Amino acid sequence: METTPTPLASLETLTALCKRRGFIFPGSEIYGGFAGTYDLGPLGVALRKNLVDLWIRSMQSHDNIAQLDSSIVTSGKVWEASGHVSGFSDPLVMCKACHSKLRADHLLEAVHVAADEKMSEGELNALFDAHRAELVCPVCGKKDFGQVTAKNLLALTNLGMFEEGDAQVYLRGETAQGIFINFKNVLDTGFYSVPFGIAQVGKAFRNEISPRQFLFRKREFEQMEMQYFVPENEARASFAEWKDERMAYYKALGISASKLRFKQHENLVFYAKDACDIEYEYPFGWGELEGIHYRGEYDLTQHQKFSGVDLRVYDEERKEHFIPHVVEASVGVDRTMLMVLADAYYEDELNGEKRVVLRFNPKVAPIKAMVSPLLKNKPELVQKAQEVRAFLKKIHPAIAWDDNGNIGKRYRRQDEIGTPYCITIDFDTLGETPELKDTVTLRDRDTGSQERLTLAEVAEKISGTI
Ligand code: ATP
Repeated sequence: METTPTPLASLETLTALCKRRGFIFPGSEIYGGFAGTYDLGPLGVALRKNLVDLWIRSMQSHDNIAQLDSSIVTSGKVWEASGHVSGFSDPLVMCKACHSKLRADHLLEAVHVAADEKMSEGELNALFDAHRAELVCPVCGKKDFGQVTAKNLLALTNLGMFEEGDAQVYLRGETAQGIFINFKNVLDTGFYSVPFGIAQVGKAFRNEISPRQFLFRKREFEQMEMQYFVPENEARASFAEWKDERMAYYKALGISASKLRFKQHENLVFYAKDACDIEYEYPFGWGELEGIHYRGEYDLTQHQKFSGVDLRVYDEERKEHFIPHVVEASVGVDRTMLMVLADAYYEDELNGEKRVVLRFNPKVAPIKAMVSPLLKNKPELVQKAQEVRAFLKKIHPAIAWDDNGNIGKRYRRQDEIGTPYCITIDFDTLGETPELKDTVTLRDRDTGSQERLTLAEVAEKISGTI
């Protein structure tokens, strides 16, 4: 009798599995850890690559989206122009009792008070003071806070800064600015014309006040961003299309539809024309996965102003220059990984045995199949199994080998890391039953069911996981 699968109950369970099986390790662990950083283990590297490749492929399905890989460190002027130097901050408040550094807006949210992103430090302090009596430190439970100060999120570095007076440099706070400053370069290649998009994947750094919730809020993280440059009269339609496309993307990836929703932004930043988030229901509640924003002409206008370079485009029909408007779709690789892992996690019972299974979409799975000989001590089985593996590795390199323990144990290990297929080579494969020669057993991760397939049929299954 099979039981109903139980979904993930807590973030701790997932964090433990990720460490145990080599998806994700805490950063600098042997030195006591380094907040806001995580390292990808062998399976994490493969999972990340699959997710990034899928995103890139979805961008490549549009003929007018260019790819870019811009520098992490740029001229400091980029961040002055973008407004990050003056306005990219989070409100910090210290608990005087336990010295925890906390986000004042998150403390207010906990008592259902919304702090507007546009608020000045003075306004935030006034709001905080008005609710001080209700606010409790989530770490020690005391009610003793200091003043609220706005902390800039940009991370400083000294790359290329040799003397006092050299301009300040930053690690990029988002990948988007690299796209804006290369807009003209991409346009001038002659292969693209407005409307067109630029997509890039890369690391970003933010001095988050309280990094938390595993991969959700890190200090070093990775973004997949696409900026779409459109004439003003097409921008609203484009915004609606990107919203639909991005939501459909997650559903096609197999993410539970009931755990995905749009959240419209009520308080827009001064330049934004419209904005919404795609949210996922993580084990700790709903949170932003991807931001889809209609940013008007702000970004290119700012860079034109600060750089003095003409970033306008010529409209042949109207015989006039214009600054394109920008619609962006921006998602974190880390939050995508967290969602994909949390959504795939189930505990169930198969043939009377309890197991943990990651029901990844096969295209996401780090290992596509595991090949094993029925018996480890039969050289003819081992040799045939190695031949089968070598054959399948030509289709996709992530074909694992496992001949440890009994077959049941091998299956459990692969279930726990989300391998869609386990392939067993037995005496029938060698021709013991002549009509079954060169066929293998393929076991399905989700149902545990087994079928006898020819190698060509198995190859087709593996091709479907790419
Ligand atoms: P939040 O409100 O959760 O801090 P944000 O609105 O500041 O996020 P954006 O600046 O819009 O985020 O960044 C785009 C995407 O980058 C986010 O939707 C998220 O997936 C990812 N991201 C942003 N900050 C972090 C972080 N500290 N750790 C991991 N991913 C992040």
